[in-house]
Amino acid sequence: MVTTIAVLREAVHHASTQSREDSLSARTPGFILALFPVGCSTIKAMSEREGKLARRVASELRGAGFVVYYVGGCVRDRLLGVETSDIDLCTDAPPARLRELFPGSAEVGAHFGVVLVRGEEAEVEVATFRSEHSYRDGRHPDAVAFETDPKKDVLRRDFTINALLQDPFSDEVVDYTGGKSDLEAGLIRAIGDPRQRFREDHLRLLRAVRFAARFSFEIEAETFSAMREMASTIERIAPERVQGELTRILTEGGARRGFELLDASGLLPHVLPEVARLKGVPQPPDFHPEGDVWTHTMLVLDSLGPCTPALGWAALLHDIAKPETIQFADRIRFHGHAEKGADEARRILTRLRCSNELSEAVASLVGAHMRFQDVPNMGEAAFRRFLRLPHLEELLQLHCADCLGARKGSETLELIARRRATLTESDIHPAPLLRGHDLIELGYRPGPAMGEMLSALEEEQLEGRLRSREEAVRWLKRHFPATV
Ligand code: ATP
Ligand code: MG
Repeated sequence: MVTTIAVLREAVHHASTQSREDSLSARTPGFILALFPVGCSTIKAMSEREGKLARRVASELRGAGFVVYYVGGCVRDRLLGVETSDIDLCTDAPPARLRELFPGSAEVGAHFGVVLVRGEEAEVEVATFRSEHSYRDGRHPDAVAFETDPKKDVLRRDFTINALLQDPFSDEVVDYTGGKSDLEAGLIRAIGDPRQRFREDHLRLLRAVRFAARFSFEIEAETFSAMREMASTIERIAPERVQGELTRILTEGGARRGFELLDASGLLPHVLPEVARLKGVPQPPDFHPEGDVWTHTMLVLDSLGPCTPALGWAALLHDIAKPETIQFADRIRFHGHAEKGADEARRILTRLRCSNELSEAVASLVGAHMRFQDVPNMGEAAFRRFLRLPHLEELLQLHCADCLGARKGSETLELIARRRATLTESDIHPAPLLRGHDLIELGYRPGPAMGEMLSALEEEQLEGRLRSREEAVRWLKRHFPATV
């Protein structure tokens, strides 16, 4: 077993280096990276501190005579040799004993019997073994029973690879569901009857896709056919939960495979019908030899490594308005698709209950993704304003992914890097020549008009038409005389 796990570990490492080699950060030209470093890992590394705290908690439980195991994602990730996001412990200690043993720890819902033990800058979840019963709402169990048998605890979990236990002292892995062999085979398999498991909690449909995408695993045949049958039940899940899973699929490094699985399982039209509609929308072959809008979008996702939510969603939605803007003129054209796409992206993300901040970031990236066309003809001020666009770093990454998805390089990125290198930070963000209090001293009254004056001044400054305080005062008196 040890050797096969080691071989698998190699394979996963190989796959992740490969995908990293193919990914945006690896293919972003070096000069762009130097100016705008690409890359962000959404999976936080399990800290030393967390590991230490987990061992201390385990020792205390063992010392008090209880059974204790590492469980779930952290065991899976350890066996795969990949970073893990958090450590979960499970034990036969009843909730009341957990509260006594770890006074001051936060209870994650007392009746759930889960406590969050906090140490210095680390926290570990400890849960009493439990079984779960009767899921009438398709998401939450109506009843939870505390158990002393760890087997009962793992049987309520979703997939075999998420149901492994590990003894914190001997490192022995306890496997009641065949999780180890599924890890070796690279399979996502529901525990027990997949139909029943997806009926209990429909969110598991998306979790299956997420884990398959993240680890480049296959979904086991019976599990997959249950998913196909039950795809429409995902509509009963709260939009923010759906959004949480989709965001993770987009940002954890396997976005293309994730979306191909959403498509193949029939989930896509139920979660993102607008994206499903990209299929079969033709594009001009001269500009897009790769094929239709869906194919292009998948190739764009393919070039993303782990990335920020804004970049992941913008990559998925950048051409979302192509179906509604298509025109068969001299050639196929999508006039205004970026601007319309920004509205469409905002609408979709609002429906999925994304934060305003994320929706606006994505809308701004989608809305600006065609601006690169104008860069070669931009004058100085226009170019500086371009460099001031919000989320510039992600916008450059989006453009890079967009080019890779159309099987071409980008001379524009090279041009941007060359021109950017000649500018200082204060060329791009010059200190204002006048501020609000200066305007008040000059006799203007505070109010909304003052904001307008300040941005008009900034515009003139950026254009290079105003260079000093005196010039600014003169200009202001000429253009805003009435308010004085
Ligand atoms: P990640 O690395 O994404 O956090 P994870 O496996 O740790 O993966 P969590 O969502 O943190 O996933 O859940 C921890 C464990 O709880 C899982 O490994 C699984 O055993 C169990 N679990 C979580 N959500 C469900 C669910 N919806 N149905 C059944 N079991 C679940
Ligand atoms: Mg976890």
